[in-house]
Amino acid sequence: MKPAVTARIYRPTPRNLALLARVLAQGGLVAAPTETVYGLAADALNAKACRAIFRAKGRPADDPLIVHVDSVTQAGEIAELNDAARKVARAFWPGPLTLILPKRPAVPAIVTSGLPSVAVRMPAHRAFRELIRRSGRPLAAPSANPFGYVSPTTADHVRDGLGQRIQYILDGGFAKIGVESTILDLRDPNKPALLRPGAISREELERVLGRKVAAYRHKVRPATAAVAPGMLERHYSPRTPMTLTRKLTRNHVQQAGTNEALLFVQRPTGLVGKNVFWLSDEPDGLNQAAHRLFRQLRFLDNGKWSHIHAEFASGSGALARAINDRLARAAAKRK
Ligand code: AMP
Ligand code: MG
Repeated sequence: MKPAVTARIYRPTPRNLALLARVLAQGGLVAAPTETVYGLAADALNAKACRAIFRAKGRPADDPLIVHVDSVTQAGEIAELNDAARKVARAFWPGPLTLILPKRPAVPAIVTSGLPSVAVRMPAHRAFRELIRRSGRPLAAPSANPFGYVSPTTADHVRDGLGQRIQYILDGGFAKIGVESTILDLRDPNKPALLRPGAISREELERVLGRKVAAYRHKVRPATAAVAPGMLERHYSPRTPMTLTRKLTRNHVQQAGTNEALLFVQRPTGLVGKNVFWLSDEPDGLNQAAHRLFRQLRFLDNGKWSHIHAEFASGSGALARAINDRLARAAAKRK
């Protein structure tokens, strides 16, 4: 027999926020909205609470957590800030930028997978910030989904995946950005490097830092594995087999079987079919495409499709890179 759904969804009323902040302060888990995706939060300074995150997600212990803070002062209590970190924090916080910095002793080893560095971010979502403020603690929070599956962008997604393992879900609407934060390695401020593409681009970071930022390269991942143990080849993946092409065309639609779905980035003109789907209705609407990416992958995964044919986003902007990174990992073969 399947375990019962224990999770309840709470609206962000002052009373509910107070209740959920209390749960966090007492070492409990709360799934909560951020502007990127929903996170599964716990007190970042409580090792036992953080262990429960790994258990609920089935996340391997070598995949460190991002710690969320409500102020630069609080960031300084868990990480050693350098001038470069202060600069980008001033420019992009609150927002979808995570910094890797040397950690302070207060942070338990479970949070950083034993690494001497910690990942820190100030999120922009008001309800999440309110939880940090009211609980009085930095909150560790990876995406609120079973490890390896498509990230959640609504409270219902969280309940679908973790409803039998957690009790509290805060509803903050449909995550605005839809893809995870940009991760910038600033352990050595003289050698900034991008570890994960997100809504904030490398070029924007370079402008603020006044120096080059080493590009993120999906293919050379093994060389960086020791820095960011979580950068797995296969991630964000639907159960339905998925393949990627540079660009889907009329030919792909004509050749696909009726039980095979096609996922375009932009709504295709003049192509219709029960199996034709898209991420964005607007021309060049990459904001919308990123916003809907995980929701569409879940929607297709819950349909009866035997295969998903998807295409890469074109362009070299931050969101195109972020979307393509998630698509490539979603479609990566199981090892
Ligand atoms: P997630 O929580 O799934 O959004 O991903 C967080 C990612 O941040 C991890 O998978 C790591 O790649 C990266 N990360 C977190 N903490 C550290 C750290 N201390 N050093 C390097 N990378 C980190
Ligand atoms: Mg994740």
